[in-house]
Formats: sequence, C-alpha cells, structure tokens
Amino acid sequence: MSYHITRKTEDQSSGVEYAITKGKYAPDENGYYGRFGGAYIPEMLHRNVEELRTKYLDIIYDPSFQKEYQQLLQDYVGRPTPLYFAQRLSKQYGAQLFLKREDLCHTGAHKVNNTVGQILLAQRLGKKRIIAETGAGQHGVATATVCALKGIECIVYMGEKDIQRQAPNVARMKMLGAKVIPAISGSKTLKDATNEAIRDWMAHPNDTHYIIGSVVGPHPYPDMVARFQSVISKEIRWQLKEKTGSELPQKVIACVGGGSNAAGAFYHFLDETSVELIAVEAAGEGVNSGKSAATTQLGRDGILHGSRSLVMQTEDGQVVEPHSISAGLDYPGIGPMHAHLYDSGRAKFLCVTDEDALKASFEVAKLEGIIPALETGHAFSALRQLELKETDNIVICLSGRGDKDLATYMKVMEQNAEL
Ligand SMILES: *Cc1c(COP(=O)(O)O)cnc(C)c1O
Repeated sequence: MSYHITRKTEDQSSGVEYAITKGKYAPDENGYYGRFGGAYIPEMLHRNVEELRTKYLDIIYDPSFQKEYQQLLQDYVGRPTPLYFAQRLSKQYGAQLFLKREDLCHTGAHKVNNTVGQILLAQRLGKKRIIAETGAGQHGVATATVCALKGIECIVYMGEKDIQRQAPNVARMKMLGAKVIPAISGSKTLKDATNEAIRDWMAHPNDTHYIIGSVVGPHPYPDMVARFQSVISKEIRWQLKEKTGSELPQKVIACVGGGSNAAGAFYHFLDETSVELIAVEAAGEGVNSGKSAATTQLGRDGILHGSRSLVMQTEDGQVVEPHSISAGLDYPGIGPMHAHLYDSGRAKFLCVTDEDALKASFEVAKLEGIIPALETGHAFSALRQLELKETDNIVICLSGRGDKDLATYMKVMEQNAEL
C-alpha cells in the first residue's frame, strides 16, 4: 500500500488516515527529505510558518475538510480527470501510453487542486486575506479563482515585466476580482514578486495566508502541496487497474518546474520500486547554453524560497536567471522532494530543449487532437529518450492545456511551415 498511510486520526470511525511518519521518500517532522527541505525563514515569519506546521495535517485530514475538499474537486474542478489511452501516440512510440488529463481541470491545469485545498485551509485558520506570487500568471489565476469562489480578498504579486508579457492572465485575475500588484525591483520577474509576497506576509502575520503554488517554500509547504496534488496518482492507480488489470505502470513521466504535478503523479508510487519515475526538466536552448532551467544538471545545494534544495547559482551563490520557453518551467530551483528523488536515484531526471518540447506539442496535437501546454510538451518529448517495450504501460501527466501558449505556437508556425 501507499507509504503515506501510517497514522490514523483520533476519529477512527471516519476512516480518514494520514501519515506523519514515513516511507523512504517522505519528509521528517522538520520537513527534510534527506538533506533537502527544512524552513529557512526570517524570524518575523516564524509564527506563521509554525502555525501552519503544527496545524496543517489535523486540518486537512479532518472529516469535514475532506468532505468539502472532495466535493469541490468533483463538482468545481471536475475530478476525477480521465486517464486516456492514447492510441495513435502509442503506435508512434511502441508502448501503451496513458495520458492523465489534468488539462481538463477547471482553469486548465493541475494547479487548482492545490489552491482549492489551501483556500479551505486558510478559512479554517481564520484568515481573511490571501496573497500569492506568480510568474506566468497560471498560479495567480488558480488562486484568484478560489478566492472568488470563497469571497476572500486576493492580492497577487507579479513582476512588472511578467505583467507586460502575460496580459491575458493579468486580465483573468482582475476579472476574478484579484488585485495584481507589480514588483518593480530587481529583474522585475518571479523572484522579485516572491520577495514582495514575503514582505507582505511579514507585515500582515495574523490575517493573511500565503498560497504557494508548487512543492517549494519552507516546510510544511512542499509536503502540503504534494498531498493536495497526490489525488493525481491516487486516481491513476484505480483508473489503470480498470483499464489494464494492474494498478502499477512501468513508468510515470511528468515535467518539473517547481515539481507539483510531478509530485502528485509520483506520490502513490514512491514506494513501488517497480515503477520508474521520470522527471523532465527544461533544458532551454541547451543545458550548457547559459539559457537553461535544468536545475539538477546545473544546480548546487543552496537555499531558495525558504528551503534547502538544488539551486542554479553562480560560484558566490547568486541565483542565476533561468530560461525556458515555457513559463511554468522557468524556475532556478526544484522542490526539496525532487532534489532528494534525484540525489537518491529514485527518480530519473531528463531534460528537453525548447525546440524538442515544441515539436512534441505539435505531434500530440496532430496525433491525439489535444493541444498540450508547453510545459507538458517537455514530458512528451522525453518519450524519445526512453527505451520502450510494446507491453509497457506508461503514464504521462498531461499537466495543462495549451491555450495559454497559443501566441508561442502561432509564432512557430509562421516560422516553420513543417510543424
Ligand atoms: C505551472 C505549470 C507547470 C509547472 O509547475 P509544477 O509545480 O512543476 O507542476 C507544469 N505544467 C503546467 C501546465 C503548469 O501550468
């Protein structure tokens, strides 16, 4: 069985069970996955983070929370998302390929699984105000969505440069009632927006919850977000059993920015060592081109966003500006869980260039009638790097739909008629 089910709540009759102790790949009480993780935060945030750490498990496994969360996942997000057997793509690659359709979630990607969970948590903590930071705007939209759902004030910090680059998502957030505040310092991108959000949280420690959008940040965020996303692999197990007779695929493939869709897709397979876990990072213009986001290939131990992980940095520890054609993978770190999966060898890390990700997106569109997000194009392209057998059951986490990337796809088609 899955590693995380090790402790029962007090209310045995509810049937709700959860872990605070661990399988080999779960964090300890201080949020360490091997040497990665922990909580490296300014003293002034200590109370907020400590409040979360001591309460999150009891809140999210409370039966009334679970009832509301599961109901919203079903009726609002649209879960369970299908596990779709991709016949033509399977033929192309000589294996049985199953696509986990997170692109069919409300708002078009997996991110909403997490924001729905965190808004319910914030309500139960008595918070009246939500802050978030966003790069491309996808997490900002998912956060603004659940704040509208619950009628809670929403402030999203976004680099000034990103606000200009991502106009449609800025419009979406505003239409959903969120206030978008530009970060005008530094490079005016995600890193600066994160600093602004942290500053805001320090100024409003009592009434504000900070919704982080991936398995990054100080403990307990990585574990909490992984649990909210774990519904992905929970569904994969029973869906695959229905379709193939076995709950366990040979491989699970997911792209990694911060790592939340991969964490969700891997979660219930972590202790199933027969299942190969494959994480796909963005190589950008090439791992050694100076324009890349392949953190495991280029990073060293460091502290980023409140936890110890692998971080792309200069020799004297300055965080390097990453590059990927896909905004969601354009991040100079990875979550501590993934750093540990890499370090321990449990997961295999591959990387895919901008160009190969684009090709894969166009291929999936033509062969399956599904236009994937550019992030997900990276996961599809990894199929070319693997040795596959006809009988292998392979699950690919289709993390999001490609509508948001249409401008990029249009530009490519103008330049290259063959695609
Ligand atoms: C944000 C995003 C990602 C990357 O984030 P993770 O936390 O690594 O999952 C991947 N795919 C899509 C569609 C996204 O929107």
